Amino acid sequence: MPGTVSLCKHSFPVQPPLGSIFRPGDCDRCGTTWNDVQAELQRQEEALINGTAREGTCPDCGQQRRLIRFQPEDKPWNPIGFEEPVTFLCIDCWNTAADVDNASYHVV
Ligand SMILES: [Zn+2]
Ligand SMILES: [Zn+2]
Repeated sequence: MPGTVSLCKHSFPVQPPLGSIFRPGDCDRCGTTWNDVQAELQRQEEALINGTAREGTCPDCGQQRRLIRFQPEDKPWNPIGFEEPVTFLCIDCWNTAADVDNASYHVV
């Protein structure tokens, strides 16, 4: 439901038969699916990206451009509370970084 915040500190099984490291099962405390959580995080991230975009020099290509916040996708194997490092990149470098991140994430 929009606007509701789950107080559950989700715990996603990554051991068969409930799930795997690449496709965690439903939260074993509240039943929320991993995909639901990722979709919600994506919405929050888009709001954050739009809210924090700024003009500046891209650290990757050195050009003066509009920079948007980039943070690698949260990985199922990251320790609880681990924060991926945040950088500000131009849209081209952002897309490249997202592709690289996706490639590292979706290796099976
Ligand atoms: Zn949960
Ligand atoms: Zn750039």
